[in-house]
Amino acid sequence: MEVVVQPHERECAVCTNDFTTPKILPCGHLLCRQCVISWMDSKSDAGCPLCTCPIVEHQGNSSQSSADVIDALPTDSVMEAIVESSRVLGKDDMCTVCDDVRAEYICMQCLEKMCPSCTKIHKKMLATRSHEVESVSTVTPERLAASRPALCADHGDKQAEAFCADHHLSICASCTSIKHRTCLVVRDINDEMKAAENALCGLTDQLVQAEYSLKQGTEQLAIRLQKVEDMEQEDMTQVDKTCDKLQIMVENCRKELKKMIHDSSLQVKNSLLEVKRELDKRLGKVTSHRNIVTRARAVAPRAGLIHVTQALTDRVNSLHLNADVDELSLMTPPEISVECYNELEKAIENKLHQFQQQQQQQQQQQQQQQHTKQKVSFSFILSHV
Ligand SMILES: [Zn+2]
Ligand SMILES: [Zn+2]
Ligand SMILES: [Zn+2]
Ligand SMILES: [Zn+2]
Ligand SMILES: [Zn+2]
Ligand SMILES: [Zn+2]
Repeated sequence: MEVVVQPHERECAVCTNDFTTPKILPCGHLLCRQCVISWMDSKSDAGCPLCTCPIVEHQGNSSQSSADVIDALPTDSVMEAIVESSRVLGKDDMCTVCDDVRAEYICMQCLEKMCPSCTKIHKKMLATRSHEVESVSTVTPERLAASRPALCADHGDKQAEAFCADHHLSICASCTSIKHRTCLVVRDINDEMKAAENALCGLTDQLVQAEYSLKQGTEQLAIRLQKVEDMEQEDMTQVDKTCDKLQIMVENCRKELKKMIHDSSLQVKNSLLEVKRELDKRLGKVTSHRNIVTRARAVAPRAGLIHVTQALTDRVNSLHLNADVDELSLMTPPEISVECYNELEKAIENKLHQFQQQQQQQQQQQQQQQHTKQKVSFSFILSHV
């Protein structure tokens, strides 16, 4: 599996240079050792500058210096090697042996850049003839880092042949028989490298699997979130619909009540007007007769008056003189009392109160069983109106 580290991936987010001793933070981000230390010293509770996750997972001994804390974090030695390799590849391209000719090749073991003629010599020398030499233009920092020989931790120029698990060091043959003679677990370096490779392979599988299931988890959550959002939208629409309906009902109710009141008072008004017209007629008759009687008195005494008086007396007796309004059987408006309206108002208030209680109960239930959706019933509002 060819993995190419992009130039920006070799960069520390704090100093923006290529990593120097990259430390692996608990969140998985890399930062230079010195950069994290300065970052932590600038803010006591500073989290990762990239994602704010805590830099120290378990706040252990608070007397520990930030350097101690950071040194306890693992170093990404692969990234370190890649940075070093890219630095070697990026350096001024002069042959490191003759110094004045352009380097075109690089020895993957010695990391020396050479001109074509020095490369030929390198390939003939007994000590270096087995070395792999590649063209500078095609080799990548990753490949260069991968082909670096394992060197003895004590003798930097000697090939490491064993790995001391007690000291956690790669060591050469002479170190194995002298310095680490009494060490309990010293294994062949190739076996150790193979074991490490296998372990990394297992870790990859584990992480790929975890990545897969976490992705699935987040996808499921996204679906649920969308569902909740859809449900909210649906409910809002339903509320709008219901309230629109209620509004129409209230409007109709207003119109009907007003019409009812208007109709019944119109009826009463008409009947009162009829009575009034009747009374006006009576008044007219009475007034005319009063004028006749007054005129008769003005011309008195006269013999003719005797007949008229009798006729007028009969006439007046036949007239309807009564004007007591209270005695007339008048129509009264139907009584829609204030209590009646209050009752209607109260009934609606009660229903709303019931609705609130129902909602509170549902919220409690939802908190108890968050995963099952409770259906809100609007039927009570509809049944009421
Ligand atoms: Zn840095
Ligand atoms: Zn982070
Ligand atoms: Zn040369
Ligand atoms: Zn070499
Ligand atoms: Zn050694
Ligand atoms: Zn040892």
